Amino acid sequence: MTAGHWDAVLTSLDDAAALSGVDPAIHAVLRVPERVLEVAVPVRMDDGSVEVFAGWRVHHNTTRGPGKGGIRFHPDIDAEEVSALAAAMTFKTAICGLPFGGAKGGVRCDPSKLSLTELERLTRRYTWEILPLLGPDKDVPAPDVNTDDRVMAWLMDTVSLAHGQLVTTSVTGKPLALGGTVGHAGATSSGVLACVRSAFTELELPIAGSRAAVQGFGKVGGPLVFLLQSAGMRVVAVSDVRGAVYNPGGLDAFDLADHHRATGTVAGFPGGEAIDPEELFAVEAELLVPAALAGAIDEATAERLGARVVVEAANGPTTTRADDVLGRRGIVVVPDILANAGGVTTSYFEWAQNRQGYAWDEELVAERLRRTMDGAFRSVWARAEALGVSLRRAAYALAVERMAEAITARGIFP
Ligand code: GLU
Repeated sequence: MTAGHWDAVLTSLDDAAALSGVDPAIHAVLRVPERVLEVAVPVRMDDGSVEVFAGWRVHHNTTRGPGKGGIRFHPDIDAEEVSALAAAMTFKTAICGLPFGGAKGGVRCDPSKLSLTELERLTRRYTWEILPLLGPDKDVPAPDVNTDDRVMAWLMDTVSLAHGQLVTTSVTGKPLALGGTVGHAGATSSGVLACVRSAFTELELPIAGSRAAVQGFGKVGGPLVFLLQSAGMRVVAVSDVRGAVYNPGGLDAFDLADHHRATGTVAGFPGGEAIDPEELFAVEAELLVPAALAGAIDEATAERLGARVVVEAANGPTTTRADDVLGRRGIVVVPDILANAGGVTTSYFEWAQNRQGYAWDEELVAERLRRTMDGAFRSVWARAEALGVSLRRAAYALAVERMAEAITARGIFP
């Protein structure tokens, strides 16, 4: 459970509603998820016993399009956390102008303790239980924490078998062999890099030679370390759940990836010194990228933060109080609902390609992703300047205004 993530979303939403002066009725609609489905997921374990897991799928808002958002497998989730993540998807898709609403799902489990066959049965039964909500024009899941293209393949197969036909448009983040798109795997990281470039340009900071610290070495943090290094940055600190490494001269991304492949962690990497993962936040650098879970940066961490710019690759990494501290300290934060939207943008491209029945090439996907991220960044930056507020407040204001426009146009039924 991430204490306060839902409260943090509500705080930002309430602030944005006041800032934009939207109709209180619209504000009230956005303060609650449209629907929260809680399901029991019984799974036959390899030893013959049955374990029952709890799962959720939440639609926060589907005014602008089908629900869109990932599915995560993690021991620390509940309906509130999934709702907070679903709401973030509503705002992300609005900021990027994608024709989707906001959804999210999850199963409370520790996937590191499950065998591959148990993971497959869990995925398929969970999919079966949330089936009434799913569909290409209703709700389109994608990968998130601890889920990947293999899990999406099982999900799509289960939906397809239920419908008696292949439904590639029912899920994104699929393997290439099943209608996935090129560029999905590193899409969130590419979007984060686009935001780093835009923010550094606006702040007149050079990319080349600047130092970066990255918390998390998973689906987003892993590829990001490569991208930052290729862009000319010095990645001085990296952490994961098992430890952290530091080298003021820069960690080599290739050697670090080799070490991670061999040992399953960045801890013990010989190309740097071991530091406490909490110390990563205090490391002196131009850039900090939290790329793990919500709530990573609290008030105390914010006071000690050593970076000038924070680009939130994770969802909800900064608590509300920490955000105030960073603001007071003049640290620029590119908020999650903008910074990590590269993933869902590329999911949109995958869904569009599946509907077209026509696969785009890598250049087209990369170019359209860059254009979408740059456009979203520009809109948020301009709004922040015009209102004289932080990028987070501006991003939420922009999202809420777009939601208000759509909700007003559709009207409240009946
Ligand atoms: N899980 C990603 C996110 O939090 C991607 C969601 C999607 O592609 O639908 O944005």
